[in-house]
Amino acid sequence: MNELVGLFQENRDIIRSTGWVITDPKSYAWWDGFDSADKIVISAFLVQLTKWESVKRVIRTLEENSLAKVESLADLDLPSLETYFKPINFYRTKARRVMSFARFVKEMGGLDKVLVLEKRPLLLKQEGVGEETADSILLFAGNQPIFPSTEYSRRVLSRVTGRDMSKRELPGFVYSNVQQDLYLYKILHAGLGAVGKAFCLLTKPKCDRCFLKQVCEYNYR
Ligand code: SF4
Repeated sequence: MNELVGLFQENRDIIRSTGWVITDPKSYAWWDGFDSADKIVISAFLVQLTKWESVKRVIRTLEENSLAKVESLADLDLPSLETYFKPINFYRTKARRVMSFARFVKEMGGLDKVLVLEKRPLLLKQEGVGEETADSILLFAGNQPIFPSTEYSRRVLSRVTGRDMSKRELPGFVYSNVQQDLYLYKILHAGLGAVGKAFCLLTKPKCDRCFLKQVCEYNYR
């Protein structure tokens, strides 16, 4: 895993081109340069089945209207929120989910009260919050030491280690092989996601172009 971390650091420009910024452990900027936990959380709801560029446009518009705060969305009415979300696929469903989440956050006393590990079971009860979304916002917006399980990370780590693992097994594998550390969890998530998106495709991985090829078991089969 140390070798992987080293390769991710050396290839930060490739990782940046997929949307991740390798930076200070507690910075919000890992999430495509965002500057607040609120923007990370709102975009995490919007990005499902939607182009990231459209999500960033909506976040910019919210910011221009002083609405890029989860709690301020709780005071909007649903039709207004739908108007802001129109460039996003399934905008009506997402507006409803974001509004409901915003009200939940307001009731709980703020985002910092919600984005803590102890509240994970409660997060998972919110509409539109699955394990991947919950764990991603806990790590990147809440700076909580948890490793989100994604299909990209599962596929790349399975191929690199030569050990086929399920999404459920993945966090346990990371916890047993990496010390608990925000920077390490973030760089592994970002790096594995970047490799999964850019090279390690499901049917035909582009191993000849991948910067993990010298450490990847799949490449030596
Ligand atoms: S070398 Fe090939 S199989 Fe291994 S991580 Fe890269 S693209 Fe995937």
